[in-house]
Amino acid sequence: MSTSQNYLCLKNGTVINADSEQQTDVLIQGRKIVQVEPNLTPPSHARVVDCTGKLIFPGMIDPHTHMGIPIKNGWSADDFESGTRAALKAGVTTILDFTILEPGQSLSESIVVRRKLAEKSHTSVGFHCNITRFEKSLLDEIPELIKQGIMSFKVFTTYEEAGMYLTYKQIKKVARVIAKHGGLLMVHAEDNDIIKAATAKYAGRNLIEPRYHALARPPEAELVAIQKLGEIHRQTGCPIYIVHLNTVSGLNAAKAAGLLVETCPQYLFFNDSVYEQPDGRMYVISPPLRKSEDQKALWAGLLNGQINTIGTDHCPFRLSDKPDGLSYEQIPNGMGGIETAFPIMLAEWLKAKWPLPRLVQLMSTHAARIFGLYPQKGVIQAGSDADVVIVDPNLKEVLTPDDLGDRDAWNGYLGLEAVWPG
Ligand SMILES: [Zn+2]
Repeated sequence: MSTSQNYLCLKNGTVINADSEQQTDVLIQGRKIVQVEPNLTPPSHARVVDCTGKLIFPGMIDPHTHMGIPIKNGWSADDFESGTRAALKAGVTTILDFTILEPGQSLSESIVVRRKLAEKSHTSVGFHCNITRFEKSLLDEIPELIKQGIMSFKVFTTYEEAGMYLTYKQIKKVARVIAKHGGLLMVHAEDNDIIKAATAKYAGRNLIEPRYHALARPPEAELVAIQKLGEIHRQTGCPIYIVHLNTVSGLNAAKAAGLLVETCPQYLFFNDSVYEQPDGRMYVISPPLRKSEDQKALWAGLLNGQINTIGTDHCPFRLSDKPDGLSYEQIPNGMGGIETAFPIMLAEWLKAKWPLPRLVQLMSTHAARIFGLYPQKGVIQAGSDADVVIVDPNLKEVLTPDDLGDRDAWNGYLGLEAVWPG
């Protein structure tokens, strides 16, 4: 194990930060980076690793995970232990997960419960605080939580049936409190009324296939919710971060309104045609997968700066959790991705020869800045945590089940190219 006396020197690698790409040495002492400089002379007892030809990234930060989610007959396929073990192997050194507000619980109680579950994690873990009920006592907790370092709060414009829905009027009130105390509001943006109306069209007709999941949650739901949130942002000044954005219209509306935007690998790599596949049910996630035009706009948004972060919305299930023949309304929503997100994104990036600092912005630095972790995380520089990811860019592989370890979580990305840290 590392002690404060342990020195590690990474020699001659190419360090990729959000704003630079530089061949240099990195000296680490214990859990901190102490020096970043070409041709540095390490202390005589340092362990020296030759990184010639390797890329060195700051640890990836996944700002959107759901480890250990209770479902009908047990738990989703990853808990904090297995999920963060898989994350670490794939270059993710920090995850930001969500609290779950149980009936009768206060926000601070909900944080304590999730923190306890996260103790067995292999990465750094932070939390966003879900506000899934509108009560004055919950709003009253916000200032103190922000003081304690929980600065991001999440609300839903849908999931009325699951008891998680807040009206726009309520969201505006939450936003005012958060803005006043310097926090950030995250929103699952799908308009409840539009989903209700679309769902009603298919109800009672025995239309159960996965494709109806996408039809019952149309893209207009995202657009309308984002327009309303843009208005709330304008009226309250509260910074608003749209999680798992997935449509071209939503993206344009969010940027016009000055909102922060996250998208996820599933919306980049897949479209709604997968719902016609035999395993289409496994891709039932909310919001649903969209059209190829949306995919194109999202990839463009990564490169042109419209999109701020990539999160995975990691919530994997086993094949047995989503048995064939279930109605789309009964299928647990969610899929995994933290175990492959960085390796497949990096493979795409290298293939297209896109600037690597941009990938660092999207998968590490921007999340660190937005969620108050910078410069401890999200950068390789003296004084930062020694969260470094070393990659040989020439070791490209095709994803196979062996890459996923002993977890029984289903993964939708098999067969894609991946470049693994190691
Ligand atoms: Zn989520």
